[in-house]
Amino acid sequence: MDNVEGLVCVSCGRQWSVEQTLYTCPGCGENGDVVYNYGGVKKHLGVDHLKRSRDWSMWRYRPVLPVKSRSPLPPLQVGWTPLYQAKDLAASLGLRELFIKDEGRNPTASLKDRASAVGVVKARELGFKTITCASTGNAASSLAGLSASVGLLSVIFVPERAPKAKVAQLLVFGSRVLMVRGTYDQAFDLCLEASRQFNWYSRNTGYNPYLSEGKKTAALEVCEQLGFRVPDKVFVSVGDGCIIGGLWKGFRDAHALGWIDGLPQLVGVQAQGSAPLVKAWQSGKPVEPVVPDTIADSIAVGMPRDALKALRAVRESRGQMVAVSDAEILEAMRVLGRQAAVFGEPAGVTGFAGLLKLLGAGAVRPDERVVVLVTGNGLKDAESAIRAGGEPTLIEATVEGMTAALGRLGLA
Ligand SMILES: *Cc1c(COP(=O)(O)O)cnc(C)c1O
Ligand SMILES: [Zn+2]
Repeated sequence: MDNVEGLVCVSCGRQWSVEQTLYTCPGCGENGDVVYNYGGVKKHLGVDHLKRSRDWSMWRYRPVLPVKSRSPLPPLQVGWTPLYQAKDLAASLGLRELFIKDEGRNPTASLKDRASAVGVVKARELGFKTITCASTGNAASSLAGLSASVGLLSVIFVPERAPKAKVAQLLVFGSRVLMVRGTYDQAFDLCLEASRQFNWYSRNTGYNPYLSEGKKTAALEVCEQLGFRVPDKVFVSVGDGCIIGGLWKGFRDAHALGWIDGLPQLVGVQAQGSAPLVKAWQSGKPVEPVVPDTIADSIAVGMPRDALKALRAVRESRGQMVAVSDAEILEAMRVLGRQAAVFGEPAGVTGFAGLLKLLGAGAVRPDERVVVLVTGNGLKDAESAIRAGGEPTLIEATVEGMTAALGRLGLA
């Protein structure tokens, strides 16, 4: 917190202090951006400091995070996920440089851990014993895991269609789970109501301004892992819009701190069956809610809660928004698994599906340096993985059965 100057509203521009309110703008109720004193940050977080740092987690960026310098941190390793240079895949796509950041390598297997880590530190700084969120799955499992790691109670609202593996994760971590007969959007509203009534700390996207600060560390890592070279384009899947908004904040912070001398274009990718932000982007009109229908449950969001931050990120970075079909998402899962050996869940590979789509449309130049975020691990949703990968060959436990099957597969 030492370098936090305050917050500023993304909608009306009003500024407020950290003490004034815990969540949204006191004027208009929109989400806020954290403002730092970059001069103060630079004293502790220059390129030289980073070269010497041995903290292989998101907390290596602590001077530019909204937590107190003495606050205890969760013991789990969040962040510093690998950024793979996918040379073979780049060659087969006709790209010069392609990098895949595997966010499935976080402790609960999605990028959400970066936000939940900040959330639990804030909850404890503020003296809360209970923290709550509504989630399609990953925000929940990450909050459950991070809460368990520091002994906070978590109460979690999930929609009925959240995949089983994600819900199982919550219960194993000891969360109290309310499964809502309804959509994510309905679970969200119930959760906000509960946090107000029972005075629980709210880890809700578009409402808690500190979550995108956690997510921005993915962008800070990309800068550092690329040796402070700027990517031309960064592809990421979009549901509520918190990740893409956070990435933009991260790249702007890195620029303000003098780590990089330019900024990338951000490409936000939604599933066609849940693309209110793509529509708003294309029409230039306000976001209209939709009824989501996609296998990519983590981005099945009808009413995006961080729309302003997301659309601003795309606009200011001169990037774009694009929608992909469920079939394109499953194809992306196969290509990424087979040619880069990274296994993502449907929403995890949606950013990559967007890259395939823009390459097909000639909207990415071969000489561009491209970064793709894989936001969640494929084991999160076994059913969709089976749809992408197909079924194994069942054989009798005999040599004849084996050779016959291998013959059919063209292997014998
Ligand atoms: C939450 C999530 C997203 C989308 O993030 P938003 O901040 O809601 O836009 C994408 N992929 C995965 C795997 C997620 O869990
Ligand atoms: Zn405001």
